[in-house]
Formats: sequence, C-alpha cells, structure tokens
Amino acid sequence: MDLLVIGGAGYIGSVVAGQLLAAGHRVTVYDNLVNGHRAAVPDGAAFVHGDVLDLDTLIRVLRRGFDGVLHFAALSLVGESVAEPARYFRTNVGGTVNVIEAMRATGTPRLVFSSTAAVYGVPDEVPIPETAPLRPISPYGASKLATDTLIGYAAAAHGIAAVSLRYFNVAGAWGGLGEDHRPETHLIPLALQVALGQRPHLAIFGSDYPTPDGTCIRDYLHVEDLGHAHLLALEAAQPGQHRIYNLGNGAGFSVREVIETARRVTGHPIPTVAAPRRAGDPPVLVASSERIRAELGWEPRKPDLETIIADAWEWTRAHPHGYPE
Ligand code: UDP
Repeated sequence: MDLLVIGGAGYIGSVVAGQLLAAGHRVTVYDNLVNGHRAAVPDGAAFVHGDVLDLDTLIRVLRRGFDGVLHFAALSLVGESVAEPARYFRTNVGGTVNVIEAMRATGTPRLVFSSTAAVYGVPDEVPIPETAPLRPISPYGASKLATDTLIGYAAAAHGIAAVSLRYFNVAGAWGGLGEDHRPETHLIPLALQVALGQRPHLAIFGSDYPTPDGTCIRDYLHVEDLGHAHLLALEAAQPGQHRIYNLGNGAGFSVREVIETARRVTGHPIPTVAAPRRAGDPPVLVASSERIRAELGWEPRKPDLETIIADAWEWTRAHPHGYPE
C-alpha cells in the first residue's frame, strides 16, 4: 500500500514507518518536526515537512493518492495537558478534524489512529476491556476520546475504514529507532538517563496510591509489538467501520518495579527521590488486549519487561544524546 504516516518522525510513528517499509509498503512521513526528529525518519521513506493543523498542505499531499493514513501526530503528556488544555484540544482534536477532512476531500480510504488508555480514566476493573466506561481524568484523555468519537462518526458518514489503537505504556526500541523526547518525561527513558549518569536521580511521582507499594501501576508494551498491531489494523480495516483495540501486555508493573528492573538491566543503582503525585495520573492502567488477539491474531513477541528495558537501554547507550539535530 501507499501510506501517509502523519507524525512519522516521532517515537512510535517512526517505528511503524520502518516496519511498514520492511513489509514492502511505500511510505511518506508527514511531520512538523516540533517533537519529531528528521533523523528518525527511516531510510526509504519520503518526507514532507508539514503541520497537521495546515489543512491545505494535508490535502495537497493526499491528492497524490494514498491507500491510507496512519495518524500519530499529537501532544501526549498528561501533566502538560492539565496546564494547557486548549492547546491539547487544538492539536489533537483539531488536527484529526483536518486529517478526516483531507481524507474526505481526496477519497483516501483507510485510517489507523493512535488512541490511548487515558480515555478510560480511573477504571472500575483491570485489565481494562474496550467496553469499560469512558471517563478520562485529563485533558489529554478527553481530547483523544473526542477524537475517537469523531472518527466513529466519520467512518459511518464517509465510508472510511478506521481503526483506533488504544496504547497503554510503550517502551523499547526497534530498527535503530528509539525514544527521544525533549524534555523527556517518561519513566523508562528517565531511569536510563540516570543510569547513564546524565541525571542524579529519578523522582517517584506519588507513593500513596492505592496499590501494593503505593506507586502507580502501568502496562508496558514493546514498541516492536505495538508497531506490529498497526500493520494488522491496516489490513483488517473495513469501509464504514470504526474498530477499537486496546494494546498492552496485560501485566502491570509499579513505578518501583520498573525502576528495580532498570537497575538489574543496567547494573546502575538509579537513586530515587519521593515527589508529589503528578496531576492526571490514574493509579492503575492495565490492558485487556483480548479483542485484538481474538480478531486480528495479534500477539506480543517481547512481553517481558526486562527485554523491553534492555532494548531501550541498548538504544540509549548508542544514542546518549538522542537523535542528531
Ligand atoms: N513517573 C514517575 N517519575 C517520572 C516519570 C514518570 O514516577 O519521572 C510515573 C508516572 O507518574 C506514571 C508512570 O511513571 O505513574 C508512567 O509515566 P510515564 O510518563 O512514563 O507514562 P504515562 O503513564 O504518563 O503515559
């Protein structure tokens, strides 16, 4: 297929772009390079420097004729979204409004969208199925829920074949592509920066959550496994349907357990300091991925947290300052 990967210079988008190329697809990456990196665009992909908020450019690019869009371009930090809700809605909801309008204007048939576990808020039960109540507790989660809602209506109205993948936590590296956020806010890359000696310690945000060790529990999935789900979603998408799949390993690890694993993998003590809770963080998020396993035959190949962190560590050591600018 001929595919436009919007946000394909970011962490997950670049990995998926690389996997699509490896599977024999033609790939064009569209990215504004605000959070993405030119060096993360895989060899073999064409590149367009464009913004998802620029409808005219999106339409012009899609007019070349594509079989589908994979849309990763979004703001994705829970804490930042609490401070800047309008910016989150503009980029995440407004950006996807543009993607849909551009797809409609050009007759582009398929859409795979990056959604999130944050749409569920504080769940009544874990692991969380797709049928769980949708009660986001952050502007980030609310913006992604609004977007999923829009995609459902747009699939029905315009016959788009759409799939939303609701990511839980993602880490690791694939094909020389890894995680490089500036500033970095995610637990695993920060722990590895401490192990590299780039930071003195790691802050633990909240030790009084209703969990066995008082720290938040998350479900960490290898980016390679997450990426693979996008290729399956693209093949399975059906005109007029909006499918929704949760993506995680189904196992939860606390912040302390993640740090302990990072200590084992790196051989570094990774000192920690206690810090207040971060706004918008639910205590426990663990995925039920039964639906995508049953319907698309997806299965994680690297479910082990130690492997996930080891692959991230290898990339971090090879790129101690991230991608070149
Ligand atoms: N976290 C932490 N210290 C940090 C960064 C993150 O304690 O320096 C916690 C955070 O509160 C959350 C978990 O680690 O409970 C995972 O956070 P991350 O930002 O990696 O992903 P998110 O769950 O926000 O998608």
